[in-house]
Amino acid sequence: MQLDEAFAELKLVQDFIPTGNSNRPGTKLIPRFITIHNTDNSSPGANAAAHAKYQKGQDARNRRVSWHFTVDDKSVYQSLPTNEIGWHAGTSQGNASSIGIEVCMHPEMDKISAYKKAALLVAIMARRFGVTLPNGVVQHHDWSAKHCPRVLRDTPGGWEKFLQSVTEAAAALQEVAAPDIIALHDHDHDHDQSIMNVNGSAVRPSSIPIDHYVVNSRHGLRLRAGPGTDFDIISSLPFGAPVSVVSRFGDWSMVDLSGDSAGDGFVHSAFLKTV
Ligand SMILES: [Zn+2]
Repeated sequence: MQLDEAFAELKLVQDFIPTGNSNRPGTKLIPRFITIHNTDNSSPGANAAAHAKYQKGQDARNRRVSWHFTVDDKSVYQSLPTNEIGWHAGTSQGNASSIGIEVCMHPEMDKISAYKKAALLVAIMARRFGVTLPNGVVQHHDWSAKHCPRVLRDTPGGWEKFLQSVTEAAAALQEVAAPDIIALHDHDHDHDQSIMNVNGSAVRPSSIPIDHYVVNSRHGLRLRAGPGTDFDIISSLPFGAPVSVVSRFGDWSMVDLSGDSAGDGFVHSAFLKTV
């Protein structure tokens, strides 16, 4: 599986804890480990979206807890950028050096799909940050002796099996075919009509993850935390602002504003113009 296809399979929704909240300290993280947790919440409805919402609320601020990703069988919610620390490991060393991933436990969840998604997420993050497999993938228990991830620890061979699926997912990941993309871009610059479609826009393979646009909305365009108007507004992008589209969710685009290929938020695709 190509990296961009794998990323799409995660169905990642970025629903960040607002900057300035006390459980988002903003301290820089260079991830050397990935810490695995279980949510310890087996209530009906305690899915990834619910845990992302929880992290934005008062109780999470009071308890000073936060983590990067929550995984269920349907999607992955991201609550913190991967270059900021969270408070999930129970030790400052664990928080300062690891990405925190919580796997849900609610009863409606298809466990096999959820752990498969979690293994794929770990494999992608390990590839992105050069985390050693399998030794860089650790349990919450390794930092603070808490009985977490409880489900994996309570299942005989559960942790070993999870690491095995991470290793297999990582071995199956392939880089995006960069030479093809470079060749196409060259053609674009030559205005080669043979790769233009009837609308005059360049035809690109669907596997290309990033494309460049500008904001085409006179009064600015709202940048939101997720793909829909019910998600929080992060900021407003001015008319003509350049953005790169990282991935699409229906009518919405996840966009990168800083050029690091990581999503910074979501905008409605109708107000983007190709450049
Ligand atoms: Zn934990």
